[in-house]
Amino acid sequence: IPVDPFDLVIFGGTGDLARRKILPGLFRRFNSGQMPEEARIIGAARSDMDRQAFQNMIREAVAEFGGPHDPEALDEFIGRLDYVAVDAMGDGGWEDLKSKLREGVVRAFYFSVGPSLFGALAERLRGFGLADDDSRVVVEKPFGHDLASARALNVTLREHFHEEQIYRIDHYLGKETVQNLMAVRFGNMLFEPLWNAQYVDHIQITVAETVDVGGRGGYYDKSGAMRDMVQNHLMQLLCLIAMEPPARFEPDSVRDEKLKVIRALDPVDYHQIVRGQYEADDSQPGYRAHVDNPRSTTESFVAMKLSISNWRWAGTPFYLRTGKKLRARASEIAVVFKDAPHSIFGPEAGTHRNVLTIRLQPNEGMTLGVTIKEPGPGGMRLIDVPLDMSFADALGPDAEDVPDAYERLIMDVIRGNQTLFMRGDEVEAAWAWTDPIIEGWTARGDVPKPYDAGSSGPEDALMLMHKDGRKWRDIR
Ligand code: NAD
Repeated sequence: IPVDPFDLVIFGGTGDLARRKILPGLFRRFNSGQMPEEARIIGAARSDMDRQAFQNMIREAVAEFGGPHDPEALDEFIGRLDYVAVDAMGDGGWEDLKSKLREGVVRAFYFSVGPSLFGALAERLRGFGLADDDSRVVVEKPFGHDLASARALNVTLREHFHEEQIYRIDHYLGKETVQNLMAVRFGNMLFEPLWNAQYVDHIQITVAETVDVGGRGGYYDKSGAMRDMVQNHLMQLLCLIAMEPPARFEPDSVRDEKLKVIRALDPVDYHQIVRGQYEADDSQPGYRAHVDNPRSTTESFVAMKLSISNWRWAGTPFYLRTGKKLRARASEIAVVFKDAPHSIFGPEAGTHRNVLTIRLQPNEGMTLGVTIKEPGPGGMRLIDVPLDMSFADALGPDAEDVPDAYERLIMDVIRGNQTLFMRGDEVEAAWAWTDPIIEGWTARGDVPKPYDAGSSGPEDALMLMHKDGRKWRDIR
């Protein structure tokens, strides 16, 4: 179903994110017929280039990152692109940009620039009369560096726009599986009655990356895994797993429930957190060489045990971990159910736990481990088999048109649906929980534990679960 006609202005239209994700994503939506005839996309950035040069740049980017395509379709898409050189901090280019905007279509402004420019852009969009009360602004991460800066950013944005106009992106929320998680939880009778401390032993959330901090070293070293991943992405996944059923699948209904989860998080005891930093090996430099700071104590890995103080989850721990340079690239949530209270099959049959695994990448899908009898004449021996739901297998060719996170989220902006975007108070609550942890590390002069590149993180992270008689799932 095509969305309404729109003018989408991408500030930072020549940047890495725009070229790798936003524009190739828009092209895929164009290909699937979701973009109406009248839709137009205007790149706006500092580089002094003309429309033709921008179109050439994006043609190359889409050819590289947009997947297989028909050259004619690409020509048609490129024809929708325009460019204006604009300085976010100055007055140049704004009148020109304004003259390109049309009346009577959805107007959206994507801030794909560094966060230090968000305020200046918001102010000029209003000052030069490009935005009105119906316009939308899309804001990239990082949203603040701590509670104070996130608050300040919210204040600045709200001086110019209402909360209903502000779309704070967390692309994890745009993933198909993440929404499927809500469909599975709230569309079935099967899971929700068991979704609590009485039946769930613990929940694990893993976001493992194989990449190093390479090109982003300067930024990353000021941030670390806690700010870069936990405060936003892992926290959002935790919220969706742990929240109460919203009354409706509507923006504030869902976001109210997520906010309650963050507010119910207990402060974390520092014994329950392990920080790590990858070391050099024979062939590759370690973290400190990548960030060019031989004494850096920033973490490239963090694992922690959390508890949520409410009726549903009191007694069920949540274990989170994320890091760079790990054994495999894998993002998954595992809901590990408790043992059956009594085994009628005797000790030799073995005990097995049901685990619901929600996999975000690679190979988005869900698996439920169920216990069955081992086939054959060998008596009653139990084995685990997966009930598998891979989108590619289950949906066949339809699965190929599953939009990736950025595409979906941009279409949601045009539709005016904020359900999968973070509200200002949510972001602030997440920082309010994160800040004391980071302040504690600073105050104690905490030094992260070294770990080998290609491993599953520092030994202490394994111990974090081991001492509770539990075990991380393999990173595969
Ligand atoms: P980038 O450095 O590649 O691009 C920055 C863009 O901003 C360029 O188009 C540049 O011309 C423009 N710009 C800079 N100063 C300007 C000014 N004064 N006026 C107008 N335009 C100006 O950055 P990026 O990697 O594309 O990231 C953009 C934003 O997206 C950042 O907030 C970043 O944190 C966020 N982000 C990026 C990625 C990624 O994969 N690259 C992922 C998540 C979030």
